[in-house]
Amino acid sequence: MLYDVAIIGAGVAGLAAGQVLQRANKKFVMIDKGKSPGGRLATRRIGGAIFDHGAQFFHARDSRFVEVVQSWLDRGFIREWNLGEPDSAESAVPSQGYIGQPSMNGFAKHLAADLPSEVFRLAQKVVRLTQNGSGETFWHVECESGDPILSRTLLLTAPLPQAANLLRNTAIGEDAMALANQVTFQSCLTLLILLEPTLIETIFHGHSYRRFGGDVLSWGADNYAKGVSPFVGAVTLQASPDFSRVYYNSSDEEVANSILEAAGISHKILMAKENWQLKKWRYAIPEKTLPQQFADFGKSSRILLAGDAFGHGNIEGAWLSGHECACALVDKI
Ligand SMILES: Cc1cc2nc3c(=O)[nH]c(=O)nc-3n(C[C@H](O)[C@H](O)[C@H](O)COP(=O)(O)OP(=O)(O)OC[C@H]3O[C@@H](n4cnc5c(N)ncnc54)[C@H](O)[C@@H]3O)c2cc1C
Repeated sequence: MLYDVAIIGAGVAGLAAGQVLQRANKKFVMIDKGKSPGGRLATRRIGGAIFDHGAQFFHARDSRFVEVVQSWLDRGFIREWNLGEPDSAESAVPSQGYIGQPSMNGFAKHLAADLPSEVFRLAQKVVRLTQNGSGETFWHVECESGDPILSRTLLLTAPLPQAANLLRNTAIGEDAMALANQVTFQSCLTLLILLEPTLIETIFHGHSYRRFGGDVLSWGADNYAKGVSPFVGAVTLQASPDFSRVYYNSSDEEVANSILEAAGISHKILMAKENWQLKKWRYAIPEKTLPQQFADFGKSSRILLAGDAFGHGNIEGAWLSGHECACALVDKI
């Protein structure tokens, strides 16, 4: 089977692109190395506890995004989340945010369910891309496992440095790397920990989230109060960009101890290893993005790049990038 488009990455940008291609009746496939769609819309279980451990919430400002967000609200994919409580750090963000139902990854699964299940190739890591064919050219997408996938066009939505790395041996390798070099990402060391209600109260003082102003921590969420973990106390603590950069290669125990200390909790509770995990996000949140909404390398290469490195650098930006990229693409194929 020769597809019109192979989308690499089933995060919010890839899912937005898939919706447009589906509506335009294009033959496409969506490949992701993860076991489920969503990318950084990520949720994990430890025992009975459930944690949103990637993106925590989002805002909607652009009218195109506001419109689609309203449809997600109407269909119960997301709900409003009040961010108006006082924080320890100053913030210029609107107080009205949105969170996935029942979790951020649950929201991604709702979006994926709007697409036919056969478009997804999950748990397939793309390792090589080669342009082939005499006469009509096409792309040969090679994964770590499974059969190769053939497609006329590639739409890459992996975080831009990873997408550029995949393209390094292609004709546009240098141009893709030059784009990626203009973008910077913050890393994020994220502690997921099961805690007793009294300890949760110590950190959050009755609120469902907290912005920290210190050097070590930037954000914390009480997944029980957020409705993500209905039965067990589950806390997500995200380290600051500077701390995450400096301690990225330190041991999990060392990082977890520092994070708990910064949250005002005795690290002795870490003794029970089955009660906590550390997630290391190398490419968490874009710090410096590209102003355009996507990149199109032209008719001869048939490669497009989208994702949160383009535009706003968050969920809204990723959705707009994938959506606009696919709208431009359907007019050409
Ligand atoms: C800790 C953290 C907190 C955040 N907080 C917020 C927040 O509160 N609000 C907000 O708006 N944004 C937040 N963000 C950022 C937000 O999550 C991202 O901007 C958005 O989800 C990016 O979507 P995307 O589709 O561009 O990329 P991704 O979600 O990264 O999707 C890319 C996909 O590509 C796949 N992939 C990569 N390489 C390959 C390969 N070789 N083969 C196959 N598949 C591959 C990945 O598995 C992934 O699923 C946060 C992110 C993190 C990590």
